[in-house]
Amino acid sequence: MANSWRRERWDSLRLLTPNWQSRLPGLRYEGPDPDGYMTVGEVIEFIERFAKVSRAPVRAGVNVTSVRQADDGYHVTTSDGEIHSRTVVIASGACNRPAQPPFSAAVPASVGQVTSFGYRDPAQLPEGGVLIVGASATGVQLAAELRRSGRPVTVSVGEHVRLPRTYRGRDVLWWMDASGIWGQRYDEVEDLTRARRLPSPQLVGTPERTTLDLNALASMGVELVGRWAAVRDGRALLSGGLRNVFSLADLKMERLLDTFDEWAKAEGYDAEVGLPERFAATRVPESTRLQLDLRSGEIATIVWATGFRPDYGWLHVPVVDAKGQLKHEGGVVDSAGLYALGLPVLRRRKSTFICGIEDDAREVIDHLARYLAMHW
Ligand SMILES: Cc1cc2nc3c(=O)[nH]c(=O)nc-3n(C[C@H](O)[C@H](O)[C@H](O)COP(=O)(O)OP(=O)(O)OC[C@H]3O[C@@H](n4cnc5c(N)ncnc54)[C@H](O)[C@@H]3O)c2cc1C
Repeated sequence: MANSWRRERWDSLRLLTPNWQSRLPGLRYEGPDPDGYMTVGEVIEFIERFAKVSRAPVRAGVNVTSVRQADDGYHVTTSDGEIHSRTVVIASGACNRPAQPPFSAAVPASVGQVTSFGYRDPAQLPEGGVLIVGASATGVQLAAELRRSGRPVTVSVGEHVRLPRTYRGRDVLWWMDASGIWGQRYDEVEDLTRARRLPSPQLVGTPERTTLDLNALASMGVELVGRWAAVRDGRALLSGGLRNVFSLADLKMERLLDTFDEWAKAEGYDAEVGLPERFAATRVPESTRLQLDLRSGEIATIVWATGFRPDYGWLHVPVVDAKGQLKHEGGVVDSAGLYALGLPVLRRRKSTFICGIEDDAREVIDHLARYLAMHW
């Protein structure tokens, strides 16, 4: 885990989960600022401390290059020798590679392209306009940072999850946690495939606890355009219908806030938190461009903030589907003795968050222990 935070994150990133929510088995945040958000350096320290506290036999800097089925388990080849194991838990992460649409290959060579893995800070980009593709957590955070650096910024917006940073005086993730939404189990989620593909919420962790939604970006002078559909003759072709995309996100946020309110009322929390709030609808620009000429010089750099994919290139067991996702039922992979952790809604909605690992791990490891007891 520390490796991904050391190598694949930009400089200004902070967790979007508050410090009190950073908890791993036997380790909790105990610093002076429970409502703050950790910097990348602090996340690395936290994970390194966990390696010590848990006394797990961590072998850092060792790459697994192949996992194959063997007669009584799995044969694992690493950059530091071979391992034979009856069981394997795949915890290699859900975000190993940035996702990039195939049409990025048709972008004219005069325009620079960078993903969130390659991006570090605004100074790294040449002067000139930036087109950010994607308006989830990564896209909105980089849009704000690059706009503040003085560059013209355009954001291409597709489906997104809008959330206020705070609601009724508490962090919105307190509500997700306390109301039980984050703890909702995978077998209770109505449309699991959809829940697993949901983009990250538009949130940023700043000391001021600011909300960073599309209205905030527009107020900073960021131009909003529709989802990027194709490249033709050096032009980015963008979908219309921003109004629908915005109202869907607004509607979903309202429904979520209704759920919070109902929960607070039912559980007698109304007196402890502020009054219910409702937020202005996402403002639809008076006119939106449906094309951007990528050869005009207006856009110097494209930042792909279009999500991430896992990488199972090293897994030589037929358990990966055509879309590159692991086939599993609550972390029990489709091959005896093989398990997974840390994938979207693996067992709960919070499965990919630091605070979500513990509950999932307990259940998955229970299954693993029973498997070992039955087979050996
Ligand atoms: C930009 C971004 C922001 C995030 N913000 C938050 C946040 O605010 N709060 C939060 O709780 N979560 C956040 N997350 C989710 C975050 O991924 C998890 O909190 C946490 O890092 C998941 O831990 P993990 O161990 O499951 O996966 P990862 O952190 O991805 O760790 C997987 C590890 O496996 C290693 N690995 C992969 N393949 C191999 C191999 N073949 N051999 C050896 N090692 C391998 C990787 O190098 C990595 O070290 C964020 C994720 C991203 C991408």
